[in-house]
Amino acid sequence: MASALSDRLSRIVKEMRGQARITESNVSDMLREVRMALLEADVALPVVRDFIARVKEKALGADVVGSLTPGQALVGIVNRELAATMGGAGPEGSAARPVVDLNLAAQPPAVILMAGLQGAGKTTTTAKLARHLIEKRKKKVLTVSGDVYRPAAIEQLKTVTAQAGAEWFPSTPEQKPADIARAALDHARRHHFDVLLVDTAGRLAIDEALMREIRELHAVLNPVETLFVVDAMQGQDAINTAKAFKEALPLTGIVLTKLDGDSRGGAALSVRAITGAPIKFAGVSEKIDGLEVFDAERHAQRVLGMGDIVALVEQVTAGVDMASAQKLAAKVKSGEGFDLNDFLDQLRQMKQMGGLSNLLDKLPAQMAAKAGEADLSRAEKDIRRKEGIICSMTLAERRKPEIIKATRKRRIAAGAGVHVQEVNRLLKEFEQMQGMMKKMKGGGLMKMMKRMGG
Ligand code: GDP
Repeated sequence: MASALSDRLSRIVKEMRGQARITESNVSDMLREVRMALLEADVALPVVRDFIARVKEKALGADVVGSLTPGQALVGIVNRELAATMGGAGPEGSAARPVVDLNLAAQPPAVILMAGLQGAGKTTTTAKLARHLIEKRKKKVLTVSGDVYRPAAIEQLKTVTAQAGAEWFPSTPEQKPADIARAALDHARRHHFDVLLVDTAGRLAIDEALMREIRELHAVLNPVETLFVVDAMQGQDAINTAKAFKEALPLTGIVLTKLDGDSRGGAALSVRAITGAPIKFAGVSEKIDGLEVFDAERHAQRVLGMGDIVALVEQVTAGVDMASAQKLAAKVKSGEGFDLNDFLDQLRQMKQMGGLSNLLDKLPAQMAAKAGEADLSRAEKDIRRKEGIICSMTLAERRKPEIIKATRKRRIAAGAGVHVQEVNRLLKEFEQMQGMMKKMKGGGLMKMMKRMGG
């Protein structure tokens, strides 16, 4: 759950209130929590240890300036250090520098070799990169598949390459990967391609033959970029895979795929640390345009589960319905649970606001990534569907969503005319919102209410 770490952090921030300085003892409480949370997010132990040591050093030397409490200052340090660890900053760097896109500084064709396990998203990413290079960098791009074990993979690359508007070089399962590579390279040279993207075979687990083969490909192709494609949902396994590929190949960059999923993205931290290669891109959907230049700052917020929730709620409640905003604030204040009725109120207020788009960038990265994809009318339709689902629930269910088990879910789904998955999604979203509400108790919302005289 994305909010686990920030729940803990905000508790510690509270506990540290009234303490004027960051000291050896108050910092270690907090760092214990950070450590646990990172381990839960599947970050490798040595990486966690290093990280904690660096944060501690920075925190103890830090000036707690202005109105910041030591707790808040620490959260800031943890956040910045996370971004720096995942970003392009060198060992001395304190802020994350954005990573340069792809290096194409080679005698054309610049070769980009894709490495990773089967299912990591290599083929999809190859096509996404082709499109990126065509659209953003105006390059002439050729793709080729060296996956001679799965004819379907060659066909898949052909299809997605066409979608990307690039050219595809045919290969067959009868050929040797190194021969395919030579032929494609030759074709690319003769036809003046700027870039050759080489997709490779991945196995379900690391094996020596696979590694030998990709090393051979690397020797034949002399790529300017060797990208390690890794599934962000892979967790601890990602670490072993990263180790194996780093030992086999001089990796120049990482593509972290499936960041549109629910994982906290802790893999980014360890894969970056273990390979030493910068994370260049993030895959954020199955679609051809679902590729973003990796943003370490934003990803750090995701790992921490923070976003400008307070600002979001302020905006939602500001102009609209003061009565229900006050009711909500009172609930938060009294510690009474935020339930599905309140969630429904919020949905309705959002709908009334109309301007959904500027709310989106106030959400935590993970939620915003989901929301950002949708166009606004879809977002509005989505709200109506959610309203429909909550309206199909009994009052008892809305007050105590935990009683909604399989049978109730089926009834609610039927009532609202949606699939059970959609009910599940709504319940999950509600849980996230509830988590945020808990965090705000006595925080931003109350301040906002005071400012408005509420
Ligand atoms: P390969 O075996 O490494 O070539 O992996 P594929 O490119 O075939 O991808 C495996 C599966 O992951 C496919 O169903 C892709 O659509 C999906 N996939 C790849 N990248 C992403 C991503 O960024 N987000 C999502 N949601 N799915 C992805």
